[in-house]
Amino acid sequence: MVASLYWSFLVHCIPQAACAIDRDIVARVVLPFSQANAPANHVTCDFSDIRFSAQFPQGRFGRCERGSDGRLIVHLEPESYPINPSPWHAFTVEADRPRHIDIEIRSEHANTRYSPKLSYDRDTWKVMEYKRQGSSQFFSLEVGEQLVWIAGQELFDNNDYAEWMRRIHDEYPSLEKVVLGQSVEGQDIAAFVHHGQSHEWLIVLGRQHPPEVTGAMALQAFVEFMLQPSETSEAFLRRYNILIVPNMNPDGVALGNWRYNANQVDLNRNWLKRDQPEVQAVHAFLRDRVDEGARLVYGVDFHSTFRDVFYTTPGSYLTNEPDFSYDWLNLLAAAAAPNAIVEQPSANPNLGNFKQYMADYFGVHAVTYEVADNADRLAIRLIARHAADTLMMYMLTREMPILIPSY
Ligand SMILES: [Zn+2]
Repeated sequence: MVASLYWSFLVHCIPQAACAIDRDIVARVVLPFSQANAPANHVTCDFSDIRFSAQFPQGRFGRCERGSDGRLIVHLEPESYPINPSPWHAFTVEADRPRHIDIEIRSEHANTRYSPKLSYDRDTWKVMEYKRQGSSQFFSLEVGEQLVWIAGQELFDNNDYAEWMRRIHDEYPSLEKVVLGQSVEGQDIAAFVHHGQSHEWLIVLGRQHPPEVTGAMALQAFVEFMLQPSETSEAFLRRYNILIVPNMNPDGVALGNWRYNANQVDLNRNWLKRDQPEVQAVHAFLRDRVDEGARLVYGVDFHSTFRDVFYTTPGSYLTNEPDFSYDWLNLLAAAAAPNAIVEQPSANPNLGNFKQYMADYFGVHAVTYEVADNADRLAIRLIARHAADTLMMYMLTREMPILIPSY
């Protein structure tokens, strides 16, 4: 019934339909190379009077050179290839004296994905005017002694996550802060656990892919709204347990990776094999809860791609609450109108992504919540808040199970 009421706002693409292109399919273009291994990252480039540096968390470029016309060429190189074409760059520029410079960002093995952004304080960013030609972007810059930051997206690194989690915990001390395990390089996989009164769980994940910052923005707004006191939130939190893992790939984030963790593995293709510590940490937590009697209800996994789209599991593939995603997204479409909400159901048992894992291992629906790279930043937050609100409302309409003591 919900679906028919709000049909007009929800663009529901059946698999193979022409209305959508799966970024992940586009991404699986195999490049004509098979050399493993990462180029040096966190590099610096000293042109004696101008210095480029990627020596900070999330900083990255491959190498740089001065072109014959004086242009400074920054080469972007992936951590490994073949790889999803998401060339990430983040570096600072400073010069001994004020001057005008022309920069070319030249992406190796893939066309550039992100519009270059500039900041003087690392917090406030603006999209630069640039020209694109082939796999290069060209722009000019006035520089001086003041450090200029240039990056594919706003920077949001592991320190920013730690600070955000500190702030959220200060505000909501009843949230339990847990460490699920360690990354390849020994960094904590930090999470929040909210304990409700039932044995039902909502799972929220983010940042499996390091450059996908708009997905991180959506996760923050989604979680903040879910916790913010309201009648809906209080009823939801009273009933449901939540696991929130905002940063699945801290090594990849720190390294400024395009896609992978420190083992050069795509974490969102590892949920079938589960041989990476980041995935194992979450899997162990979920399996332990289920062994104790928990019931997973739904999963939301935040990502970014070139457009806003919700990848879901088809009801025909998973008949347990088959219309869960469809009905929720119809509620969201009504709330978020006139912003279009696009759903694209698909299932691929061999893909190894989180959504498929939730379906095949636990028998429950989940969504890959994709945010456009260039989405309006305020709209990201607005839609994420509506997403949290409508998901809570939808989940509260589910039949109440027999309550058992929480653990
Ligand atoms: Zn992704």
